[in-house]
Amino acid sequence: MLILSSPSGAGKTTVSRMLLEADAEIGLSVSVTTRPMRKGEIDGKDYIFVDRAEFERRVDEGEFLEWAEVFGNLYGTPKAQIKAGLKEGHDFLFDIDWQGTQQLYQRMETDVVRVFLLPPSIEALEQRLRSRATDSDEVIAARMARARAEISHWDGYDYVVVNDDIDACFETVRGILETERLSRARQTGLIDFVRDLTRES
Ligand code: 5GP
Repeated sequence: MLILSSPSGAGKTTVSRMLLEADAEIGLSVSVTTRPMRKGEIDGKDYIFVDRAEFERRVDEGEFLEWAEVFGNLYGTPKAQIKAGLKEGHDFLFDIDWQGTQQLYQRMETDVVRVFLLPPSIEALEQRLRSRATDSDEVIAARMARARAEISHWDGYDYVVVNDDIDACFETVRGILETERLSRARQTGLIDFVRDLTRES
């Protein structure tokens, strides 16, 4: 379970997309949210969009691996799909915030790798947020305050990558994924493999 978190504007969505395209072994965990759908988003692909009553019903039924309120909307990771996929040996990419990261880590410690992306500077982040849309200074200021709040959680992650070049950042995250896959504890089937290697004929 590879978790990628960052303040918005630090390139998390782009790095996620590049990773999913480059690596057939990893799939995206599609979250459930009460946030209204944005233009261009597809229900079931970007998020599963539900209303608050439906979200709360799913919480009561224990359907989430983790869930959190992020800036006034509810977001959660559905349990069934992830558990089944992991059992079959698939890897999952999670684009979730620090609260969800803490919960996932508490539940599935050894299965989780946590990566936090940082912008190269606060000016660069502001520029990226400004170039996205023609928002008012007030909206930008609110986004910057959120970004600063998110950045303050950097120390709850295993890896921190500064994104000053998107291609280099992607290669670094890909390297982390590949290295973590090689960790002894994650290589299922290794015992039988080594037993075969050391068997005297
Ligand atoms: P957005 O609404 O911009 O797509 O996402 C807002 C924030 O919610 C991002 O920081 C994103 O990582 C986080 N988020 C998205 N899905 C989940 C989820 O299932 N659980 C948690 N805890 N956070 C999520």
